[in-house]
Amino acid sequence: MISFLITLAVFLFMECVTWLTHKFVMHGFMWYFHEDHHQPKYANIFERNDVFFIIFAIPSILLFYFGVEGGINYLFFIGLGITIYGFCYFMIHDVLIHQRFKWFKNTKNPYLIGLRKAHKVHHKHLGKEKGECFGMLFVPFKYWKI
Ligand SMILES: [Zn+2]
Ligand SMILES: [Zn+2]
Ligand SMILES: [Zn+2]
Repeated sequence: MISFLITLAVFLFMECVTWLTHKFVMHGFMWYFHEDHHQPKYANIFERNDVFFIIFAIPSILLFYFGVEGGINYLFFIGLGITIYGFCYFMIHDVLIHQRFKWFKNTKNPYLIGLRKAHKVHHKHLGKEKGECFGMLFVPFKYWKI
């Protein structure tokens, strides 16, 4: 039970981490890597922006590595929370919103439609400054109305 709560708490906490990194790191000193993601058309299958997947994967790998030492300990569940969040982020941001794979194109779920709208608003800004909607899974309620 406690391990489930750790995983869930980390999952929710990752939304805050994502918001902060997106706003202050990706739109900050690492803008170079995020910039091509804000261009209207992607030139290649991979974007420079994809380095952030690798950056976020490193802590999970380390947590899994140390989390199985002498039986599974709490570090493992922290790593699990980060990994599940990363998976959801990929499914939502790269598949559902940006359609890098053509899955669930025609969803009618108001939450998923709201997600898409909120992120489109984020992408309206092509530049580094003055962005909005930096989060991912939490959708401001104004976007829920169709
Ligand atoms: Zn951005
Ligand atoms: Zn973005
Ligand atoms: Zn995006």
